[in-house]
Amino acid sequence: RAKQDARGSVRMFDADLRVAVERRVSVDRELAGAMERGELDVVYQPVVDLGDGRTRHAEALVRWTSPVLGAVSPAEFVPIAEDNGLVVAIGRFVLDRAMADLARWRAAGVVDDDFGVAVNVSARQLEPCFVDTVTGLLARHGLPADRVHLEVTESVLVEDTARADAVLTALRALGSRVALDDFGTGWSSLSYLQRFPLDTLKVDRSFVAELDGDRSRPGLVAAVVDLARSLGMDVVAEGVETPLQAQRLRAMGVRWGQGWLFARPLPEAALVAHLAAGPAAVVAVPVPPPRVA
Ligand code: C2E
Ligand code: MG
Ligand code: MG
Ligand code: MG
Repeated sequence: RAKQDARGSVRMFDADLRVAVERRVSVDRELAGAMERGELDVVYQPVVDLGDGRTRHAEALVRWTSPVLGAVSPAEFVPIAEDNGLVVAIGRFVLDRAMADLARWRAAGVVDDDFGVAVNVSARQLEPCFVDTVTGLLARHGLPADRVHLEVTESVLVEDTARADAVLTALRALGSRVALDDFGTGWSSLSYLQRFPLDTLKVDRSFVAELDGDRSRPGLVAAVVDLARSLGMDVVAEGVETPLQAQRLRAMGVRWGQGWLFARPLPEAALVAHLAAGPAAVVAVPVPPPRVA
């Protein structure tokens, strides 16, 4: 019987694996012409000042709606695009779109001069020629470099340290601002914060989620925030979903928050309407003492 169960579970595993492989193959195939067919779009999620509720920049997030596969999450297709190299063209598309939108908002007076956009950049994109791409696009759209924030993940720093350092240093020399995304989820150590030229730390939402709920561990977030601030970095908290999280972050001295509490990622027109509606309500709620473990 045991043998039969074992074989049964092996067969089950095979079937799951086959479904996963087939899915990956179709995503890879459909993604190939997606950009040319106009299936990609960019949405914007406000990043809010936790002090006054104002949106000072927005993160550009790519969206793909395939006529064959429906809406596919970037969490699924970006890793595949990293493997097949398409992420370079997709990344350029997103950067171009975000800069074009920002230039239009500025010209229309929808945003102040200090408003910025943040764009995610994959390891594959961080070649020396990326600096030329950014330079060219800034010139084409007539934008100052410091209004464009580039978000990289820890994997970029871990995988090719010397190259990442060189490209990030060049981007900063240009005036662009570099943010370390999803901090706390990867394999980098705290020493990376000091070693690499970084302006902003984005604390991953898994840490933010720990700020309330039963297993609340605010000490961890507070330590990361203190370190980042002592290094002169801005801190953005990702995935802020509850007023209590926002309140605790604010109490820790975190200036910026991004999450569903304030706004979901919005299509361009909806972002413009959102900005016109004025600052988000920064709700003050009493902060219960942290649970002693
Ligand atoms: P990310 O850069 O960390 O982006 C934040 C993700 O968290 C977004 O998921 C956003 O929709 C989600 N999010 C924001 N607020 C909340 C919240 O309060 N709760 C929860 N549960 N989630 C929240 P999205 O748009 O699905 O993107 C997933 C990831 O895909 C991004 O994570 C980024 O790593 C990657 N990605 C997205 N667009 C691009 C792009 O243009 N280029 C590259 N290279 N990667 C991209
Ligand atoms: Mg990001
Ligand atoms: Mg992030
Ligand atoms: Mg994230």
